[in-house]
Amino acid sequence: MKLDKSKQLYQRGNKHLVGAVNSPVRAFGSVGGNPVFMDHADGSKIYDVDGNEYIDLVGSYGPMILGHNHPIVLDAVKEAIEKGFTFGASALGEIELAELIYENFSGIDKIRFVNSGTEAVLSAIRLARAFTGRNKIIKFSGCYHGHSDALLVAAGSGVVTFSLPGSAGVPEAAVKDTLIANYNDLQSVKHHFDEFPNDIAAIFIEPVAGNMGVVLPEKEFLQQLKELAHANGALLVIDEVMTGFRSTFGGAQHKLGVTADITCMGKVIGGGFPVGAYAAREEIMNRVAPVGDVYQAGTLSGNPVAMAVGKATLETLKAINPYDDFEKKAQVIEDTLLSAAKEKGIPLTVNRFGSMINPFFTDKKVTNFDDAKSCDTELFAKFFWNVMENGVYIPPSQFEAWFLNTAITGLDMEKLQEALRNSIKEL
Ligand SMILES: *Cc1c(COP(=O)(O)O)cnc(C)c1O
Repeated sequence: MKLDKSKQLYQRGNKHLVGAVNSPVRAFGSVGGNPVFMDHADGSKIYDVDGNEYIDLVGSYGPMILGHNHPIVLDAVKEAIEKGFTFGASALGEIELAELIYENFSGIDKIRFVNSGTEAVLSAIRLARAFTGRNKIIKFSGCYHGHSDALLVAAGSGVVTFSLPGSAGVPEAAVKDTLIANYNDLQSVKHHFDEFPNDIAAIFIEPVAGNMGVVLPEKEFLQQLKELAHANGALLVIDEVMTGFRSTFGGAQHKLGVTADITCMGKVIGGGFPVGAYAAREEIMNRVAPVGDVYQAGTLSGNPVAMAVGKATLETLKAINPYDDFEKKAQVIEDTLLSAAKEKGIPLTVNRFGSMINPFFTDKKVTNFDDAKSCDTELFAKFFWNVMENGVYIPPSQFEAWFLNTAITGLDMEKLQEALRNSIKEL
């Protein structure tokens, strides 16, 4: 594969951008080799600066559920942009996107839009603390909730990929109220409530983890967490930044039979523009300024172009209703990977949920972060480059989910299967 221009851009970028990137996973740290610089994308495909074409299973790490440049979304962008980039005032688009989300989530009366998933979750921490009058929060090892101080411990993919225990520059004081539990291990959560019965404001969780690779919650786990939280006067905050509108039109929480006290969103609801949101029932959200006493603000929050893209993305998704099709395609990918691995004699586990899927190079079932970390990451690195050589763009980390999009055609699926089979055969 020719990557000459990517190499040149990497050298040039490295001079004035840290690691030549603006988000660490893009540096390909855990798979080695030169990061690929992209030039353009269309539909199910993405093209690098050297002219290599890939079927895109990264989808910008989640937002691009309709593939790239969906005509309806593109028209919405153009129409919105002609009306001005940002007003610093309220506009119709914010109400429309809020209504669309409200109609498809239970347990939500009011929504606040922000600019990223990170911002959504850090605002939810502040709100949960204010509402309960408590300071401690519980998070799960391997779950990622953005890069805010309080949640940047045991934080999954990005951090593990770089073998950092957490992050430098996060003062102990900022994480002293963060308690870590193990995914799918209710006892590890109970333990914290036993130790701090009156101090825990909320449990934060990804309803299906996607930042240690895809890890599903065991049956009833989320319901049990909610009961445990409520029995102890705490809230359940479900972080749907990745999962929202990915496995069903609404939240993964609905598919899994639980309703959060506070829900965080991002990625798909912005359709590729910077949007995050947090939402809850009125009693909780009315604590947020200007109605309440929890301050949170943003110059570009509810940006009119981003709102228009979010609305067009959700409306198009609703019309297409691709969720059964995602399920079928993910099943085909799982079968392909498993049969190729079996033939080659390589241990492989595949986890998936809706349009999120990923293979783990291990013979274990992967139900928590320790299981995920038992994978052969060196083998993954080889596999990654084989897959790229075969014309498919997947995340450059064992611990990131692959994302399906609605632009993937039957022909793409055939190419994809062949690419995955070849990539395993060539290991
Ligand atoms: C991506 C992600 C975030 C952070 O969102 P950003 O927009 O990258 O700040 C938070 N939580 C989850 C579950 C995510 O997948």
